[in-house]
Parts: sequence; C-alpha cells; structure tokens
Amino acid sequence: MNRLIALVGVLAVVILGYMAVTNDTEDANPQDQAQVSGAASTIEPTLGFIDDERIKNAAAEPGNWLSFGRTYEEQRHSPLTQINRESISDLGLAWYKDMGTNRAQEATPIVVDGIMFFTSSWSRVYAIDAKSGEELWMFDPEVPGEVARKACCDVVNRGVAVYKGRVYVGSLDGRLIALDAATGKEVWEVDTIIDRTRFYTVTGAPRVANGKVFIGNGGAEFGVRGYVTAYDAETGEQMWRFYTVPGDPSLPFEHPEMEVAAKTWKGGNWWEFGGGGTVWNSIVYDPDFNNLYIGVGNGSPWTRIIRSPGGGDNLFLSSIVALDADTGKMKWYYQTTPGDNWDYTAVQDIALADMEVDGEMRKVLLQAPKNGFFYVLDRRDGKLLRAHPYATVTWASHVDMETGRPVENPDMDYTEKAKWVLPGPLGAHNWQAMSVDVDSGVVYIPAQDNPLIYGVSEQLKKTGVLKHEPGRWNTGIEFGRVTKMFIDNIAEQPTPKGYLKAFDPLTGKDKWSVEIPHYWNGGVLSSAGGLVFQGDALGMLKAYDKDTGEVVWEFNTYTSMLAPPVTFEIDGVQYLSILTGSGGGDLFGGEPLPPVAEHASLTYNNYGRLLVFSLGGKETIPVPTVRDRSIPPQVVNASVEDIAAGEIVYNEVCAVCHGLAVRSGGSIPDLRRMSEGSHQIFNQIVLEGLLSANGMAAFDDIISEKDSNQIHAYVRARAEQDRLYAAGEVELPQLTWLSD
Ligand code: CA
Repeated sequence: MNRLIALVGVLAVVILGYMAVTNDTEDANPQDQAQVSGAASTIEPTLGFIDDERIKNAAAEPGNWLSFGRTYEEQRHSPLTQINRESISDLGLAWYKDMGTNRAQEATPIVVDGIMFFTSSWSRVYAIDAKSGEELWMFDPEVPGEVARKACCDVVNRGVAVYKGRVYVGSLDGRLIALDAATGKEVWEVDTIIDRTRFYTVTGAPRVANGKVFIGNGGAEFGVRGYVTAYDAETGEQMWRFYTVPGDPSLPFEHPEMEVAAKTWKGGNWWEFGGGGTVWNSIVYDPDFNNLYIGVGNGSPWTRIIRSPGGGDNLFLSSIVALDADTGKMKWYYQTTPGDNWDYTAVQDIALADMEVDGEMRKVLLQAPKNGFFYVLDRRDGKLLRAHPYATVTWASHVDMETGRPVENPDMDYTEKAKWVLPGPLGAHNWQAMSVDVDSGVVYIPAQDNPLIYGVSEQLKKTGVLKHEPGRWNTGIEFGRVTKMFIDNIAEQPTPKGYLKAFDPLTGKDKWSVEIPHYWNGGVLSSAGGLVFQGDALGMLKAYDKDTGEVVWEFNTYTSMLAPPVTFEIDGVQYLSILTGSGGGDLFGGEPLPPVAEHASLTYNNYGRLLVFSLGGKETIPVPTVRDRSIPPQVVNASVEDIAAGEIVYNEVCAVCHGLAVRSGGSIPDLRRMSEGSHQIFNQIVLEGLLSANGMAAFDDIISEKDSNQIHAYVRARAEQDRLYAAGEVELPQLTWLSD
C-alpha cells in the first residue's frame, strides 16, 4: 500500500461527488451530496486530478508543475521565491535516485501534489514521492531493443502528460499509452504509426486539453511523412489527424490543407522519401483561442534540389501551424524556413505570452527554432512581429519583415561546393528548453554556434538521382566523406560554441550572454527568485543571476545534462530537480576536438540520475573515477582501399551513434576499446543482431558481409591511430583514408 493509492482513494470520492454537484444532482444520494458539497467547497488539489481548469489556473498553485512547460503558456518561469539570490548558497542535494541507465535523459517531470511523474530512457515511466524519493511505481512499455536503430537520436523521451487520473506516454516504438496515475497499470494503448515499414519513433511528451491527447512523431532523416494526431483521453479513440506535408499525388488529399500545401511542392518524388515535416517535440495548447500550435520539422530529404527540384516553399515544413484544437482544422501558419535545405526544424519549444509590442498588448507566440532567428508572432492570426537573430546565422542575411521571409545568402549555396554553414543541423537552439521571463522582457536560451559542412551526396552528384533507401538516413547530404570534408576545409571551420543568453526578442539584443566551453548544453528554468538554472555538458548544474548572468551557485553532478530543471514546493519547502545524462541528438557528437572542452559524460560516465535539491540539503553523490580510456593495440591488416570503403559506410550508418572518427560521445560504446572477444564476433553483432537487446540491432538488410568486414577494418585502423597518438608515437592521428 502506498501513499499514492491512499490519496487516489480520497480522490475518487471527491471526483464522484464533485461531478454529482456540478453536473446533475437529481439522482444523487442526499447524504453523498452533503459530504460532497463540503468537499467541493474546499476542494483540495487532489493527486492525479489535473484537468483543464487546473492547468489554466496554474498561477494559483505555483508549487506544482502541471504540464510540460509548467502551464499551458509553457514559459518555464516559476513564481517560487524561497530559493533566491540571497538563499542560494544554502542550496544542497536533498536526495537522488540512480535511474539505472547511461543513455540520455531528456524529460521534464510533471509534479502534482507531492508526486513526480516522468520518463527515463526507453520510454520508461516513473511515479516518485517527490519529497522522499520513494518509487511509487514504474511502468516499462518494453520497447524492443532493436527499435533503437530507428531513432535518429538515442532511446530518449521528453516526458508524460498527467490528466484526470491518467498518465500518458508516447513510447519509442510509436504507441500512445494511458496509465492509471495511482498504480501505473495500463488502461489503453493505441498504435500512432501509419506505416510500420518506415522508421517512425516517438520521443516527445504528449499534451492534453479538452479531453484530448495530442502526439506527433519523428523520423524525417530516415524518410517518413509527418503528422499529428488527437485521441480521446478517456478511450484512446482517434479524433483527428493533421498531416504536415502532402503525400503521394496520385492519391486524394486527406484534408483540404494538403491541397494548399501540394501546390508548393514541385517536381521530384518527395513522397517516396516521406517528405518529412515531423512534429517530434513542440505541441502547445492555447486556451485563449482554443488553438493547438504544432512545431513542424525539416524536409526529407534535406536537399531541396531532390525533394522539390522545381522550387517552392514545401509547406508545411519548418512551420508553426495553428490548428483548431477540437477539429484539427488549420487556422493559420507561419513558415520559418521556406524550402528548407539544412534540417532547420521549427519543432523547438513554443511559449505563449501576453506582451506589449509597439505600444499595444498582444497575445504572442515565441520560438527560437533551429534556423537562428527568434520569432514573435501574434497568436490571433500568425502575423510576424519580430524575427531577430539570436545566434550566428550565415545561411540568411535577415528576415524581410514585409514578406515575412528570410533572405538567403547565395554565398552559402552548397549545391556545387561543400560549405560550412551556421547554424548546422543541431540548430542554433534545439529541443533543450528555453524559459520566458515576461517581467524582465527576456528569454533565456541555451544557444549554440555549431556548424556543419554541408555538401551534396556523391551519389546524387554522379547520377543526378537519389533513391529512397529504407533503413538508412536519406538526407541527400554527403555524410560518407564527412571526415575528409572536415579535414579539407578545417581552416574555414567556425569554432563550435555554446551560450546561455538572456535575449530580448523585441530588440534582438542580448541583455547578457555567457559562453559555455561545450556547445551541447541543457534546458533552462528561471524563477521569480531572480535565478536562471541550467545543467551543462561539463556536468555543472549552475544558478545564474537572471539580471547579470553572474554564476551564483554551482554543483558538480559529474554528468553532462540536457534535461531542463524544474522547481516545485511541498509542505512549504521549495525543491529543484534535474535528470542527468547526455547524448540525444548530438549528431556525430563524439569526443570533441580542441578548443571544445571534453564533456563530463565522456570523462566519467553517463550516470542517469534524478537529483533533487532544497535549502539545507546535505546529501552527496559518489565522486566517480575518471574512465579508463586506453585503447588496446590493434592488428590492422586490411588494404587502404578496404579501410576507405569502411570509412564511408561507417560514416553513413554507424557514426550517428558511435561517433565521428569512431570516437564515441560517452553513452554509446566506443568501438576503439572493444575487447578482442567482441572483435571476434564483430560480424555477428553487426549482421545478426547479437546485442539487439541493448539497442544494437541487426543491420544485415543494409550492410553486406563485405561492408561489415570493411567497417571493421576502418574501426581497427582508427583505434590504432588514436592509440599511437596517445602514446606519442605519431604526431597526428590519421582520421581519413579517403583520397580525392
Ligand atoms: Ca531533423
């Protein structure tokens, strides 16, 4: 028996009685009614019973964190003040929980009445007593290990929605599952995926409103078609579905908006690639207009010369689309990157606010999408109010405020020659949460200047065609030769940098900006206590003075962080919590080369933990030992041609998890340090899926035995080079075996 079940017992009485009072009292037992009237008049916020009204009135209960971004506005700015500039020096660890994973953790917990509901890796759901750390229940959707291969960015999940006694989670393999909030038992599940032959995954947190649950999906790099679906929260019945890009033109349009969109796709065979436009992160409900804003992802393939060779904007890629929350009908859209060519998703967190713009109070929508411009839109009609750059942008000079369109920089066209472009595909800002401080007129953004050298794929250049290849990345970008392209163009490479910025979206000016010695950092929380909290890649959880950017507190977690902190209050005590563990979408993000600092998950380990802090907290975490990263000597007896061929396939298929140049980022095994035993069964692992339970699926559908042998030769060659370099036996390690 746990506290949760006891509380839900009370809850059931209150809810039943509450319904009797508010809906139809005629048949109610007078005695029940009397009891209930009393209860209803002093109705306590009761566990699990988060409803629309409660989220709409979240300001009245600042101690809870009721929805993804705390409230429907998703500003992630807490009114709590117990932890403040003066008291911060007393902040210490109250308790922590080892989550038993070293994969990335990305979730925002929902905290309601002392219970914390959140997800860890592999879409596992936890209910925890937020004061003591006691686990109340855990639900494991038992995602098959081989599904990891279908995910671009590790087996991550960004959280649950809690609504009317239920907890909703989207599992990595694409199910939407409703759980009983009291017990963690499954109530229903639905398959949200329209085509199981494609590599769809779900990593985003569902959202709830008006009796519906909303969920999207990911997979654009592999070649899927995006959509978002609304389900009845009670039964799981599908209520509506909105596709974000047109499908096969020989088939009828699913809804009228697709007819509008199809006119902006010209030539090509995009539907074979799926078109992209996945809604993998931001879905925001706006009670002021009964709108649902969806953030739409990039094109599939990335290169528009293949996706839509006749030009066109390719709606609704890289757009913010406002839908009627009840019907799924489109009200308006704003496209941030017409004819996307760079993986510039507009899926980043959307926040809502009431702000004075040009002397007039406006209901605005705020977003910092990957493309580097910060958008302020009027929620009423989608009118563009501001679009200032918040990081270094080289693909476009500015956004034309008359047309609302970015003005592309022709010098950055990579069709003929590979070019370093900022931002790269990780964006100037990714899914890591920003926060909005309306009183100060700023947003706090985990921003980055992180370039990629974009070049058209060799296959495409040689043949003029790109065929959709199931099970592989389908971007039209040359990833097979990417190491060589890096080296050949190293002199022009912009240095990757990370920042935490207090940015004024109306003036486009930084109030302050702090550089962080690694680009891939965590989400942000700000508070009325005058603080901004963020966990960084170096393992430091920091509090900044929100007016100056000065660091006023820090705690070494020894683990890189991506997840946003949240704060809540129980029995008069304010807590701060964060999940640790990095990885995620850091494409090819292995061991960084100087001047980018090495991140903590590489130095130590990727310790998946839940850390909870309060004033006076005295708990400590174990200080880890530095990882043994010595590389065993290798016997390399393959030809340069074989190693070079292996390099190409490795970069196209393996690097996204195991790291560029076979240098892993920490959470996925580093193949340079494989045991000789693993080397002996290399082909069985790669081709037969010997380790599929861990996420290393069989790749025999796209990798031949010859490929596998060549990849193996490349892995050994790279390992030996780095070993020799570490031993001081070579001046520089060889990184590529490709010739021009
Ligand atoms: Ca993408």
